[in-house]
Amino acid sequence: MEIKKGIAASPGICISEALVIDSEEYRIPRRSVKPSQRMGEILRVRNAFRDATAELIELEAAQDPSRAGKIKDIFAVHLRFLKDRSLRKEITDLVYAKSVAAEFAVSTVLRKIATHFSSVKDAYISERAADIYDIERRLLRHLLGERREDVNHLSQEVAIVTRELSPTQTAGFDKRFIRGIATDAGGRTSHTAIVARSMGIPAVVALEDFVELVRPGDPVIIDGNRGIVILDPNEETLSEYRRHLVEFSALEDRLGTIREKPAETRDGVRVTLLGNIEFPDESHVVIDKGGDGIGLYRTEFLYLNRENDPTEEEHYEAYAEVIQACQGKPVTLRTVDLGADKHTQNRRFAPEPNPFLGLRSIRYCLQNIRMFKTQLRAVLRASTLGPIKVMFPLITNLQELRQAKLIFRDVMEDLHEEGLAYAKDVQVGIMIETPSAALVASALAREADFFSIGTNDLTQYTLAVDRGNELVSTLYSPVEPSVLRLIRSVVQDAHRHQIAVGVCGEMASEPEYVMLLLGLGIRTLSMTPPMIPEIKQIIRSVTTEDCNRVARKVLAMDSERQITSFLRSRARAIMPEAF
Ligand code: PEP
Ligand code: MG
Repeated sequence: MEIKKGIAASPGICISEALVIDSEEYRIPRRSVKPSQRMGEILRVRNAFRDATAELIELEAAQDPSRAGKIKDIFAVHLRFLKDRSLRKEITDLVYAKSVAAEFAVSTVLRKIATHFSSVKDAYISERAADIYDIERRLLRHLLGERREDVNHLSQEVAIVTRELSPTQTAGFDKRFIRGIATDAGGRTSHTAIVARSMGIPAVVALEDFVELVRPGDPVIIDGNRGIVILDPNEETLSEYRRHLVEFSALEDRLGTIREKPAETRDGVRVTLLGNIEFPDESHVVIDKGGDGIGLYRTEFLYLNRENDPTEEEHYEAYAEVIQACQGKPVTLRTVDLGADKHTQNRRFAPEPNPFLGLRSIRYCLQNIRMFKTQLRAVLRASTLGPIKVMFPLITNLQELRQAKLIFRDVMEDLHEEGLAYAKDVQVGIMIETPSAALVASALAREADFFSIGTNDLTQYTLAVDRGNELVSTLYSPVEPSVLRLIRSVVQDAHRHQIAVGVCGEMASEPEYVMLLLGLGIRTLSMTPPMIPEIKQIIRSVTTEDCNRVARKVLAMDSERQITSFLRSRARAIMPEAF
């Protein structure tokens, strides 16, 4: 039995067999080999080139001659690369010089070439980057061969164990069979963790080297409540966890009974509890769990996992589905937040050096106005179907808000001229996710209808800690005094200008932070849907005076550790069974 500690990313417990995914699609972890194994790896490279070439020649011969033309050109380009001796030499030289496995060398060299191609201005050459990725995939398939596991055709329950997952891969999982996720990379607010939470799949991230210890089929326990994984559990541990599973589902049943009751403190203050969603079908979960609407629809998920951008009609259909599922409850549509760790298929091949500081979010939209307008047209057209609000992500200054609003008004005028209906009174709000926005919140509040504090990014940018990087994950905390001061001042600025302010970062889904947020003056929390009942239960167990006292105490503390342990003990006293 082996126990490893990571970060609890999605609550729940899974006891299952491991399904080890060796490569994320075709991204390969760096694997070193002993110097004595290098010749074997070089031989593997040669064999992979030989087999891939033979496969291509066979494929080419099998083509229907009447449809030759373009397909023939593609085969010719691929074959030319595969027969290029200097390319093969570069790969085998890397294996030799750095003592790395064949897969890693193939991936490194081909990705370097692809990146170079995509940066070339000439369209013909830059388009060849996609061919290089194709060749890489083909070679890796030959190299990984039977070791590669297929997650898309499962017939029994498994626990995924892997180095890293993309948000889109996680979202594509079949919930019937994937009972838990353990990844070596990632942080608590990485988008993969967020998606796992939304889907109700227990997950532990930041395990560093777990994937290297596990073999396919090994029994594992993933404890998403405590953030640990157990490989090969003994009988005693297994029965302890089976007992936890029973208790956990009893707690869920008990919380189900407060579904119809309001999220109201003991002294009668009503709190609005909303859900965060990535996909339209999650809106049902929000309503089933007793949520008051959608506080954050991450619409960029419409763009992931597909070759072309969604059309206006596809946007519209997705929004219509959410609005209808919410049955008159409000829906906040966040305009696309692409970039950083969420890429369209095209952009994932052209990585930026510092993507979280790069062309992301509203910046990306303001540089791609046609795409932005397509979305805004669909949003406005959908506004006739039910109450919606629009929210711009990652605003850093007034200028960006003004530009985005100007484009929004342009789209309204276009629709008006075309005789298309839309609601004239759609509220336009912004996310406060950067220290810059928090510091100029007062000015922003004059021109925004509401604020939603995105604590995931606000924490990342305030502390200069990448939210998805396991190497610095222990430094990431939304209750660092610096982050809390920013939250407090944003709430005060919003109140002063009489605009609504809520929190939609993962902090709002954490039972231990509820009292603090209420004490800071927050009355709207938007969270991962499965957490709505638990957060409601806490709200119903406290008074606003309790919460104010907690906030006063916390703001007087100057260490994150002290704050965390104080908040944990308060929450545990209120709801011991959740911890
Ligand atoms: C946030 O940053 O807190 C947020 C809610 O946005 P996302 O997690 O999608 O970046
Ligand atoms: Mg964000």
